[in-house]
Amino acid sequence: MDKKRLEVYKKKLLTRREELLKTIARTAEEGRAADEDPTVDLADKAANSYTKEFLFGMTNTDRTLLGMIEEALRRINKNEYGACANCQDEMLPKRLDAVPWAKHCISCQEKKEQGLF
Ligand SMILES: [Zn+2]
Repeated sequence: MDKKRLEVYKKKLLTRREELLKTIARTAEEGRAADEDPTVDLADKAANSYTKEFLFGMTNTDRTLLGMIEEALRRINKNEYGACANCQDEMLPKRLDAVPWAKHCISCQEKKEQGLF
């Protein structure tokens, strides 16, 4: 992959990473604030813990994504970026434009989702 395209993906990944880190920090802060609020009554607390579970669920998704982004950045540093981790084929620009942190090409991703590897 040429350097110019690689830089574009790298920039995309770094921007997304920055956003995610902010979201994760904010979610953690909101969870803590809801816990420490002494004016909240029991019914509200129950609603709060529901909200919190939801927020934590989101945080988990964010963390998974963050891990994938960091892996993609490592692949850029190792000059492995853009190749499918399974079949080593170069991934289509279309695929990387949609999912810059993709580790597998579309056909391998489908196999993976079907549990074939
Ligand atoms: Zn593949």
